[in-house]
This record gives sequence, structure tokens and C-alpha cells, in this order.
Amino acid sequence: MVMQTTRASHDIPAFMPGWLDILALDEGDPMNGLVRAEQLKQLGRAMPFSAAAVLLLGLTLAVIFRHSAAFPVLVVWLGVLAAAVAFGLHKVRLRRAANPDSVPARTIWLSAARALCVGSMWAALFPLLIGFADPQSRAVMSGLHIAMISAGAFAFAAVPLAALLFAGVLVVSLIGMMVALGASWSSFVLIAIVSALVARGVIAHARAIVVHVHAHERLRARGEMIATLLDEYETAGADWLWETDACGLCTHLSPKFAEVIGRPAAEIVGHPLFDPQRSQARNKEELARAIGLKQRFRHIQVGPVVGEEQRWWSLSGTPRFDLLGQFAGFSGIGSDVTEQRRAREQIERMATSDSLTGLANRTAIRSHIQAALDAVSGGGSGGCAVMMIDLDRFKGVNDTLGHSVGDELLREVARRLEGDLRHGGAVSRLGGDEFAVVLSGVNASAARGVGARLVETLSEPYSIRGSAIRIGASIGIAMGVADGATVDDILRAADLALYRAKDDGRGVVRLYEPALHHDAEERRALELALRLAMLENQLSLMFQPIIDLGDGAVVGFEALLRWKHPTLGQVSPARFIPIAEDLGLMDTIGEWVIRTACAWAARWPTNIGISVNLSPSQLVNARLPNVVLSALATNGISPGRLELEVTENIFLNEDGGTRGALDALARLGVRIGLDDFGTGYSSLGYLRTTVFDTIKIDRCFVREAVDANSQSAAIVRHIVGLAASLGMETVAEGAETVEELNAVKALGCGRVQGYFTGRPMLAEDATALVAPARREARAA
Ligand code: C2E
Ligand code: MG
Ligand code: MG
Repeated sequence: MVMQTTRASHDIPAFMPGWLDILALDEGDPMNGLVRAEQLKQLGRAMPFSAAAVLLLGLTLAVIFRHSAAFPVLVVWLGVLAAAVAFGLHKVRLRRAANPDSVPARTIWLSAARALCVGSMWAALFPLLIGFADPQSRAVMSGLHIAMISAGAFAFAAVPLAALLFAGVLVVSLIGMMVALGASWSSFVLIAIVSALVARGVIAHARAIVVHVHAHERLRARGEMIATLLDEYETAGADWLWETDACGLCTHLSPKFAEVIGRPAAEIVGHPLFDPQRSQARNKEELARAIGLKQRFRHIQVGPVVGEEQRWWSLSGTPRFDLLGQFAGFSGIGSDVTEQRRAREQIERMATSDSLTGLANRTAIRSHIQAALDAVSGGGSGGCAVMMIDLDRFKGVNDTLGHSVGDELLREVARRLEGDLRHGGAVSRLGGDEFAVVLSGVNASAARGVGARLVETLSEPYSIRGSAIRIGASIGIAMGVADGATVDDILRAADLALYRAKDDGRGVVRLYEPALHHDAEERRALELALRLAMLENQLSLMFQPIIDLGDGAVVGFEALLRWKHPTLGQVSPARFIPIAEDLGLMDTIGEWVIRTACAWAARWPTNIGISVNLSPSQLVNARLPNVVLSALATNGISPGRLELEVTENIFLNEDGGTRGALDALARLGVRIGLDDFGTGYSSLGYLRTTVFDTIKIDRCFVREAVDANSQSAAIVRHIVGLAASLGMETVAEGAETVEELNAVKALGCGRVQGYFTGRPMLAEDATALVAPARREARAA
């Protein structure tokens, strides 16, 4: 067997049968059984015609020899022939009724034997009759002999063995007859040509049958396989089948598909399968185009609305054409990919959004910025602004109220930002308490206006889980493309502007300016240097006297931190302390301050107090009480001499950790002072409920209190009255002139701390200032 693997148009490789395949007698090959069945089927089909032809030939002979002595023999012979033909026809009828798929080789042998018998009868008849024929009849008989060879070969052609035996025996008898009659050589040539043509015809016909059977069988096997697969599809698989007619109306669909559509299959058949009006737009067009062009399409996703729900189907389809080449509709498969699609969308969303707030994340905002920059470069109207927003005092909320409240606060911040910018502007959370906003089509002053509005919005009090929380926001703005033409550049510029906003006291909006680059370098250098400052003993304390306004005596000192940078010299605490706080260094540095201040205070008379400033992170550090106790004990100082100063900034909320920490300190017996009063939230409420021993009135009131009719003077008077009623001490901070001193004295302040009465001084000088001998001399 030779299999040709060239691709025919129908996709089935053509089969080229050999001799043995044509004879189909080998029982070992199951295909031969099918071939034999087909051979016999075709033989049966040709049989009535062959029988008629044979009988006609017989009758012709009977007419020719009607007056001959051979007539009775011929009649008998014809009778036998008719019986044989009738038997053959009967056999054929039986076989046709049984219509077997496969037939044993024996049947072919029997057919061949029958053919040989019939052939032999004819082969014997012609030589017998020729003796009785006149010369004219002989010529007719030769013609009939040849006709018999052809007719018989045609009749048995489907079974080549039978056809060849039948024709073969007749050819032999014909040759024998011709020899006996002394025919010319041309007669033999004619016989040879006829024999060759007949043999060739028989073999070609037989070969065609074998090829047909093989092709048919392969198609049937393939069809069966496809049917099985389709069956699998429809019943077990996740996919379903659909079919439409030339008008796009559904002609078939899997029950599973009907289930997905949510309507019985019978209701859908006869209607358009895909309702473009209710499908998602982009893919709808793609599908319509493919269907319109009668083109094969694969995995087109359409988004139909089933019930009220948006679903997603993946569809593949192939156009069908009828025998005339007319378009007959589409057949295809589909599957519901809604879940896969949702999962993919979820992953994409996760990759581009912030899981806590649902805002765009850093990756996504970068694309927004890029698009905004492209729009500006492309000549779009106005510029674009990138805003960096940092929440002020957020860390305090996290530290004091816990991370879950912190998270809730961040979500609320996100809601406010989105609410404020719903008419324009992309909002994202970059991480921590940092947010970014991209505004398109704005100039710098408009961006600054939006920034100021956002600061206001974000600074409104928050109410989270029963706590009233107050935070602020600092904003840095950079304009594209002037401040940065690439995403990285503009983000860096906005970042620098944000640093500036924080350095400038927070709660403000700052626009980028080129000088900020220099500041940023400086800050980075400071950060690095600050980490070494402690280790390299660059930190020191100065002490500023606090004077009693009644008798002018020094009643204490405030310890003020100093940093002498090896090359920059003295760095202001207003500059480096926020950096140290940001770097998380203030807990360590603050502990050193407490211990060092106490160590110096130990050398002073016991009536001289020592005030130490606390950063917010120190206050909520659980170690603080132990540090304080240890510093007091090591230096033998009574707790009442130590005053710890906190600023109003610690009052982010009206309850929680701050108050608890203050109470814990108060229980140690140390004093608590409220520093810079008036610069923070100016909420007098907490004064009534918190255990402050001292209120330090900020310098800004002191300066203006010189005018007795000023609002500041009224406020100071009010605070002093309130403090007195609550048993608190008041200290006026930063009195620089005698007028300021007198003014605060007149307003009732008990104490003063300012340049006029004494600048921050070295510890040794402070010690000398309060040395007993000196005090006595001063008293004298
Ligand atoms: P503060 O606690 O309010 O300290 C008073 C500040 O006012 C000091 O500034 C002091 O030098 C300054 N001052 C005093 N009298 C006058 C005056 O008559 N006129 C003017 N213009 N200023 C006056 P300094 O030393 O620069 O400290 C600034 C701030 O740094 C302090 O403000 C305090 O908040 C913080 N700080 C200083 N040392 C520490 C520390 O050890 N720990 C913490 N956490 N913060 C500290
Ligand atoms: Mg202070
Ligand atoms: Mg102060």
C-alpha cells in the first residue's frame, strides 16, 4: 500500500492501490473486506444489464443457427445459460438485501469461479458452432465473440479476478478458433488490442473502486471522530457549538449555550444569535466585520448583557458554503470567558491601582503624567501640573491610634481628593501618606489655586471611629514641560517643591524653582551628616534661662539642642530637627538630650528647673517613662524639677495615645509644659482636660502684646486668666525688648524666656549663672 501525503483539496491524502489491493483477496487486511463488499455491490448493480446483454447475444446466435443442426444443442445450451444467469441474479438480490459492510475473500473466489464457468461455456460454444456456420455467419460470430469478451469484462469489471478469468478464457478460445480457421495475422493483432483495452478498463475500474472505498472509509472514520468530539463538546466540555443560516439566524446551538444565554434553545433558534445592540462596542464591530465579509474568525470576545449582567464570550466561526458555492451561514464554537476576563481585569487593576484606597498607583500615574506631557508637547492648550501631596502629622496618627485608623484616614483622604478633583485631575497614591495629582490644561497660578484648595480640604477635621483627627497637607507642584520634560524629571521637581513646602512649615503649597535642586542636595547631605552627628559628638545643648517676672530670679533653663556641622558650622534646630524626625532619629537624640540636660541640672541648686523639648515620636514611645525615670535617678534629681515640653501638634485627636502618654508622664511627677501655645490648633478645650503645668505663650503673641489694645494682648490676657484658674504657670516666650517684657508682665504672665533676659548659653555659663555664690551676690 502506498500512501501519498500530498494535500489534496479535500484534505484526505490520495491512496494509490497496488495489484494485491485491487484483487482484495488478502484476508489479513480488514480494508479488503470493505473493498470486496463494494466490488460485489457494483457487480450486482451491473448484473441485470449484463444478463440482458448475454441473453440478447444468445438469442442472436439462436436466430443465426435456427436452421442449423446445432440448433437443438444451442437451445439446450441457452437454457443452461439462462438458468446460470437467473441463479446469478438471485444471488445478487440476496446479497443486496443483506448489504454486508464486509465480505469474505471466499465470495470473490466463488464469483470468479462462476465467471470462469460462464466464460468457459461461451468459450466452448463458439468453436462448437463455428463448424456449422457459413462464411458470412463466421464473420458475425467472430464479432459476437469479441463483443462477448467486452460485455463480460464490463459485467464482471467490479470484480477484476472474475472479469479477467471470464475475458481470458474467451480470448484463449477466440485465438484457438482463429488458428483453426487460418485467420490472417491482422486478426490476432486486433484480438491483442481488444484484450489489452479490456484488461486496462477492468483494472482501471477495479482500482477506482479500491480508491473510492479507502477514501470513503477514511472520511467515515474522520466523520465519526468529529461527531464524537462534537458530542464531547456539547455534553462534557466548557465550550458550545452554534450555527447560523445565511441571514444570521440561529439554526442550532448547544443546550449549554442556551443555558448561558438564559433562554431555552427552542426560543433562540430562528432568531439572530448575537444582538449587536446589547454587546460591547469594540468587539461588536470586529465580529460584524468578519460576519459581513463571510470570513473565518477566531476568539473574538464579545460582551453581551445577559439578564442585567455583563458577560464575555469568546467566539470562533467558519463560513459554510453549499455545493453551488453560495454562502450558507456560519458554524462555530464559543465559550463563556467572563470569569477569566474578570480575573485578568482584576490582575490588571491590581497592577495599576492602590489596594488600600483604590486610587491609581505609582505605575498608573506615571502613564497619566506621560499622557499629559505628550499633550503639552503636542501643542495642547495650557500646561500640565504634577502635584505631590504629603500629609502632615500622619505618622502621629499611625503611631498613636494604630494602623487601622491610619488606613481608614488614608481612604478618607483619597475620597476627599477624588471628590474635589472629580471635574478634572488624576489622583493617585504613591505610597505611605504621599499622594500625587496630575492636572491638564492649567497654568502655574491655577495649579497653585487648586493646591491651596486641596490643603484646605484635607485639613478639615476627620471623624474616624469616634476620634476627631486633624492633619494637614503640604503640596509641591511642578509644571510640565517647563520644570521637567520626562516623567522622572517632573516627579523629581514636584518632590523638591514638596520638600520646600515641608521645610516652610507644612500646610503650604510650593511651586518648583530651579534653586530647589541645590536645597535638595543640601538636605541629602544633611541627612547623611545627621546620622553621624551623634556618633561624632557634634551635638550639644545650650541652656536659656527662664525668669520669674515677680522677682527677676532665674527659675530654670530650657535645654536647646545644637548641631555643629564640621563644614557647615551651626545648623539651626528648626532645620535639622524636622529632618531628624523624618529620619526617625529623634528618639535616640531625644534620649541623649534628656540624660544630658538632667546631668547638668544635677549641678544646679535644687530650686532650678530644667525644661526639655519632646518630639511627637518620643512622646508616644513606650520607653519614654523609663528613660525619664532612669535619667532622674542616675542624676539624683527630683521629678518636679524636670519639665517636658510638647507642642500643640500632638493633639491630632481628642483622645487616644497622646493623652495616655501625657498622663503616664504626669504620674511620674514630672511637669508638663505646652510649648508654642497659639501656633497650633488654638483649641482651648484640651487645656481644661489635660494636665499641663505650664503654658508657654508663643513669641508671635508676645511681640504684638506691646499694643495693649491688640487682639494678641486680649488673647494673652485670656490665656493667663484661664491658666491661673486651672493652676498653671505661664511663660512668655521670646521677649526681646524691655517693652515686650513689661507688656507680658502687665498682662499677668508669671515668667519670661527671651533674648532680653538671657540668650541660650553654654551649660557651664548656665551653671555659673545659678551658682549659689553668684545668686547670693545678686541678691545682695
Ligand atoms: P522652642 O522649644 O520654642 O525653643 C525656643 C526657641 O526660641 C529657641 O530656638 C530659642 O533660641 C528661641 N528664642 C528664645 N528667645 C528668643 C527671642 O527673644 N527671640 C527669638 N527670635 N527667638 C528666641 P532654637 O534653639 O532655635 O530652637 C528652635 C526649636 O527647636 C525649639 O523651639 C524646639 O521646638 C526645637 N528644639 C530645640 N531643641 C530641641 C530638642 O532637644 N528636642 C526637640 N524635640 N526639639 C528641640
Ligand atoms: Mg521649647
Ligand atoms: Mg517655644
